Amino acid sequence: MGANCISCGSVGTMARFENATYQVNFRDLKTDVGGLSGFRCGTCGEIEFDADSAERYAAAGDSLVLQARREVGEELRRIRKKLGLNQAEASALTGGGHNAFSRYETGKVVPAPAVINLFRLLDRHPDELRSLKRA
Ligand SMILES: [Zn+2]
Repeated sequence: MGANCISCGSVGTMARFENATYQVNFRDLKTDVGGLSGFRCGTCGEIEFDADSAERYAAAGDSLVLQARREVGEELRRIRKKLGLNQAEASALTGGGHNAFSRYETGKVVPAPAVINLFRLLDRHPDELRSLKRA
């Protein structure tokens, strides 16, 4: 009989698993982490990884976050330059503070989805920049 589940409170439902593969997702990125071990609740699916597995699973997630930040930063920089804006002008347009675009482009901060969506729209319809700047 296994341990009790701390998530759903079921009694004796935590069952041992070894060498399992779980997918880590962040936004549209995903990666598989193999060789994971720990306990899984047969009732609610709650997973409690062993310490080593928990560390590798978390590291894979961190690496996806960094990759996403880099990709978004590079995309925003490309679009900003295409629009002929400097970083201060782009920051003024999106309202994140005067250093916001510098932080986005270097991957220090993940911009809000609204910022990414606005720039993707402007990438496709650069003429619309004029209507925004008039506002
Ligand atoms: Zn459970």
